[in-house]
Amino acid sequence: MTLSFDLTADGARDALRARAAPEKPTLIGLTRAELGAAMVEAGIVPERQAKMRAQQLWHWMYVRGVSDFAGMFNISKDLRAELDKHFTVARPEIVEEQISADGTRKWLFRFPPRGAGRPVEIETVYIPEEGRGTLCISSQVGCTLTCSFCHTGTQKLVRNLTVEEILAQLLTARDRLGDFPDRDTPDGAIVPAEGRKVSNIVMMGMGEPLYNFEAVKKALLIASDGDGLSLSKRRITLSTSGVVPEIFRTGEEIGVMLAISLHATNDDLRDLLVPINKKYPLKELIAACRAYPGLSNAKRITFEYVMLKDVNDSIDDAKGLIKLLKGIPAKINLIPFNPWPGTNYQCSDWETIEKFADYINNAGYASPIRTPRGRDILAACGQLKSESERMRKVDRLALEAMMIAGHGEA
Ligand code: SAH
Ligand code: SF4
Repeated sequence: MTLSFDLTADGARDALRARAAPEKPTLIGLTRAELGAAMVEAGIVPERQAKMRAQQLWHWMYVRGVSDFAGMFNISKDLRAELDKHFTVARPEIVEEQISADGTRKWLFRFPPRGAGRPVEIETVYIPEEGRGTLCISSQVGCTLTCSFCHTGTQKLVRNLTVEEILAQLLTARDRLGDFPDRDTPDGAIVPAEGRKVSNIVMMGMGEPLYNFEAVKKALLIASDGDGLSLSKRRITLSTSGVVPEIFRTGEEIGVMLAISLHATNDDLRDLLVPINKKYPLKELIAACRAYPGLSNAKRITFEYVMLKDVNDSIDDAKGLIKLLKGIPAKINLIPFNPWPGTNYQCSDWETIEKFADYINNAGYASPIRTPRGRDILAACGQLKSESERMRKVDRLALEAMMIAGHGEA
């Protein structure tokens, strides 16, 4: 059974639609210093109070999950009214929420165009498991890269998400799951029996996070701030297709766990599957992994490997994988290929996947096979794609060049 709520229907949409006032700047995604400065600049808080007020807001926004100044009770009524006049802390619009038979949830968010021509849509997925709940967050609308097995890569409208938009996915998921203090979890929702409903984050939704480095960094530093959202960096994983120049910085400046979308063990095949390999071939990618800050047996890199029938699933490929990763503290994550409308690839047979996994296990690696979740609502890895307008190839390439040049400030 799949449940789907079309929130574009009047009543439902009004109920969930944030009271967003797009003309008012958001306070979500600012550092404490920026928060203080914004209030001083607006003339509503004297300089000497800036730090204290910023701390109060931080607590309401990130510990209590309040999305309206009216709920910030230890701030005077007058200041709340002033804040509301100048700023917003509202959630974005949720267009649709789907709930899979296995409890996986997928939200379709709509964000303002911000230069992309028309409003854009992105997807976020929540995967409940026994002892944890993982939120799969998007970093871009679409993706400029074109991995041949990935649905997102066929979407042509691309723009970077802002810090607010990245964080809003986490805040809204926690709202909808009752994962803030004093909130109720919806009846019948499948969530971990104990602890936080969203206990882990993976940057594995739409987009290449390292092409939006600055925004992703800022959002993840806020998500892991101990006085706020307070997620451990050990429970945040950033997945990249292999943007080599940004890998070291990811460890140094963000300090989260790293996952690499490997998928092939020789350059010829990887060029076809993950075309960024032409720019940053395996040798450079593996060298960057070896140099990842903090790498140890307790802090391994995850190598993702999608199982494509008759393409990369032979025992020779498994041997190549072991050879390639020799000496790197690694976990290997085998992902059964998730098909999508129009793809030419097929998922490897189960027997083949098990043989591949056995070979890798025998070589001493943990190699969990990632169980596909939420397939009935197209929520599995690589299936995310919103129906946005197509962008011409030349525009995509130009945008990609800008993103690389500006570390994703485009
Ligand atoms: N752009 C980043 C993160 C998003 S993709 C990256 O490529 O790493 C998250 C993972 O899903 C990647 O390993 C990606 O290669 C994989 N993936 C993409 N399409 C898939 C599909 N159809 N089936 C299974 N895995 C897929
Ligand atoms: Fe982009 Fe990752 Fe999909 Fe490749 S696999 S097209 S990098 S989202």
